[in-house]
Amino acid sequence: MFLQNITMPEFSRALIKTQSAILPVGVLEQHGPHLPLGLDAMHATMLARRTAELHPCLVAPPLNYGLCRSTSQHPGTVGISANTLKMNIHDISLGFYGQGIKTLTILTGHAGGTHQAALLDSAEEVLKETNLEIAVICVLDLFDQATEFLECKGDSHAGEVETSLAMHLWPELVKGSAKEEYPTYPRFILVRDKVGHWPGGVWGDPTKASREKGEKIFELEAENLVKVIKDLEKRAA
Ligand SMILES: [Zn+2]
Repeated sequence: MFLQNITMPEFSRALIKTQSAILPVGVLEQHGPHLPLGLDAMHATMLARRTAELHPCLVAPPLNYGLCRSTSQHPGTVGISANTLKMNIHDISLGFYGQGIKTLTILTGHAGGTHQAALLDSAEEVLKETNLEIAVICVLDLFDQATEFLECKGDSHAGEVETSLAMHLWPELVKGSAKEEYPTYPRFILVRDKVGHWPGGVWGDPTKASREKGEKIFELEAENLVKVIKDLEKRAA
């Protein structure tokens, strides 16, 4: 059930069947020269909706903005601060709790470390304030990156995985191709010239992408997400 599209009576009826909700989170962020800026939120939302087909749960409209660090200066990236992200997650979680939701899965399509830390920090606060059972999950952690059908080790942004997913889910939004690239950020040291260390905005090898790989990744993610939601529901029972 995609909450954006249903009515008040439909919501009331849905709540009798399930008290689990997924909140997709993404960012507006460069994804190389070939993929759309909104890919992370689109990915999390599509995955949540696919998961709801396999196991009853409510899917919230996505939070389309998050915290972007390494991509913050590339054209097209618009981020928000950790505090703003945390307040959004906090207030939305309390809102769902107030509506009778018992398990909340915060599903982020964006894997940035500072972004994920903000989600966790906020969810810990919600845990103290409510009886909600909560999971915070990054889509990339829902399948084994070392799986035999993936060729590029160290893929993380607009590379083999995300390009494959886009070829499967939105082939019309994949614009041409991109080269293998890895950023040259120094370890530990923060840099001002972020684009200079990562000009193409690709982290991995998009030339290894295929529609078939995208479909496999997407279905694996959904299967594993169902397992997490079932675990949450056991805890909430
Ligand atoms: Zn992404």
